[in-house]
Amino acid sequence: MKQMPKKQIDVKKVVSGLLSGDIVSLSKAITIVESDNIKDISNSNKIISSCLKNRTNSIRIGITGVPGVGKSTFIEAFGNQLTKQGHKVAVLAIDPTSTVSRGSIMGDKTRMNTLVNNKNAFIRPSPASSHYGGVAKKTRESIILCEAAGYNIIIVETVGVGQNEISVSEMVDIFLLLKLSRAGDELQGIKRGIIEMADAIIINKADGDNINDSNKAMAEFSLALKLYPIKKSKWVPKVLTCSSINNLGVEPVWKLVLKYISDTKENKFFYENRKRQNKYWLLQTINDKLQSDFFSNDKIKKELEKQYNLLDQNKTTPFAAADILLKI
Ligand code: GDP
Repeated sequence: MKQMPKKQIDVKKVVSGLLSGDIVSLSKAITIVESDNIKDISNSNKIISSCLKNRTNSIRIGITGVPGVGKSTFIEAFGNQLTKQGHKVAVLAIDPTSTVSRGSIMGDKTRMNTLVNNKNAFIRPSPASSHYGGVAKKTRESIILCEAAGYNIIIVETVGVGQNEISVSEMVDIFLLLKLSRAGDELQGIKRGIIEMADAIIINKADGDNINDSNKAMAEFSLALKLYPIKKSKWVPKVLTCSSINNLGVEPVWKLVLKYISDTKENKFFYENRKRQNKYWLLQTINDKLQSDFFSNDKIKKELEKQYNLLDQNKTTPFAAADILLKI
């Protein structure tokens, strides 16, 4: 059946709109970049390369924590405070659950409702259809688009329970972990690796009956963090308490971010880290492409089935089978 011709996208118009800070153009550009459609790839590349030439001096902040810890409440308070100081804030949310559950954590329309209406803020949830690795890669590209559109603070929000923190930490300058004072790490679903990645731990909900516990948790975490090896950035992770709902302790988090940025710019880690991240994404992209080309090849698909059967019958080994498949 003949397909209806797709409406031509005026890439130049989208790019010039984006560069002048137009939110509709920025959203359109992100949609093109997020698209899995092969036809959008050339437009997507054109958009990204125009944007790469036009980037601002940005700060990229990763924020993670389990559902319910208060990430969106924190980001709303944090974002509104930053826009009051003249910054432009973009929030890119990665929600690995959005493909599986309709009651998506990030998809909740009531989240960040004052920031949504703030003209100096831009909020974008992750694409619902992409598989996880793709989402992270596309978020990285969306960062570039947001920066070209004049957003100088980029917040990448993610749920701190899965694999995705690793990718997120590879696209931000500073990584913040939000925690609660009472529940243990197991209860909070937080892995040791994530604590190791954090440049700051923020004990949220430090209000009401929770104040004492929060201060205790802050002291305990500060001690515990001393046991971790020194980071390449030479930055010693800090612990702060915060009540996002009351807007208390939010400004100190911003001060901490600024201190981190100035320290790591001074010792050059900031610049080296961004260069290293670029290489990471280059290799990651090659890996993804090789893998998808490999598994979408019809000959491979056929041979893979054959090798699966041979494996089930104990007539080959995984290594011998891989050898055959890789030689196709
Ligand atoms: P997220 O899932 O991590 O984004 O968490 P939310 O921001 O949606 O917050 C989950 C719940 O915790 C909501 O009912 C918030 O009102 C509440 N909450 C968030 N921050 C605070 C805080 O600082 N103090 C208190 N007491 N409650 C908070």
